[in-house]
Amino acid sequence: MKIPEAEVRLFNRVFICRKCKAKVRASTPRIKAKLIVCPKCKSRNFRPKVKEKRIAK
Ligand SMILES: [Zn+2]
Repeated sequence: MKIPEAEVRLFNRVFICRKCKAKVRASTPRIKAKLIVCPKCKSRNFRPKVKEKRIAK
């Protein structure tokens, strides 16, 4: 893997609300467990800002 750790730290935990496109920083397990709620619209639908390359492999 040639991804610098700093880059992972910056992008891997940033999610975008599917409704209002608010940026939310949280850890992936919490997003998947629906523990994170959008501060703006209260939606629980998020998508990762950057695709996770590890999973795609
Ligand atoms: Zn939202």
